Amino acid sequence: MSSGGHRRFKEPRLVIASHNPGKVAEIGELLHPFGIGVVSAADLGLPEPEETGSTFAANAEIKARAAAKASGIPALADDSGLAVTALGDEPGIHSARWAGPDKDFQKAMHDVEEALSGSEDRSAKFVCALALCWPDNGDGGHLEIFEGTVEGALVWPPRGSHGFGYDPVFIANGHDVTFGEMAPDKKHRISHRADAFRKLVDGCFAK
Ligand code: IMP
Repeated sequence: MSSGGHRRFKEPRLVIASHNPGKVAEIGELLHPFGIGVVSAADLGLPEPEETGSTFAANAEIKARAAAKASGIPALADDSGLAVTALGDEPGIHSARWAGPDKDFQKAMHDVEEALSGSEDRSAKFVCALALCWPDNGDGGHLEIFEGTVEGALVWPPRGSHGFGYDPVFIANGHDVTFGEMAPDKKHRISHRADAFRKLVDGCFAK
């Protein structure tokens, strides 16, 4: 497939603009086959910028630009969440915030269900934006953005103990188990993050 005019990644390593060890490990594994070493923003002691954007792509861009500028090497950032149609795509970019300071996703799933009550439309999607930023010289750097989605519907009550976040209430279209019930390697093949990664690899990393 053509790279569609995207910049190809030729450097030996990049910084993952995240302080979440799970995310860093997952992205590191995905990039390993391309011979790219990864370090995390936390390893380099980089500050976490405020996510002031109004879209997933804008917040991924803020994180990638900040890490590229501070480290001087290319940076990859991920921003993701659950968009519920009947809630005007909330919790969306506020997905982590709905879980509160204690990161209580039982509460977040419950609050989504309560907000949905009475609505016949239970459709929802997970969205993932990946931003790759090269520091370049002087200007804000060169940016590539890729977005992935997985469409589905919400169920209640929550089912399954795999995954994280809103996985136990989400069933992807064409499946009959929630992401919480699905084997992790299967989820990782069909998820919003997998979709965004395929586009990133195709655009910037594939040989
Ligand atoms: P971020 O780390 O600021 O991008 O926040 C992402 C939030 O979106 C997570 O805390 C989860 O609540 C939610 N989220 C993103 N991806 C998934 C997923 O694959 N399963 C379940 N929840 C997810």
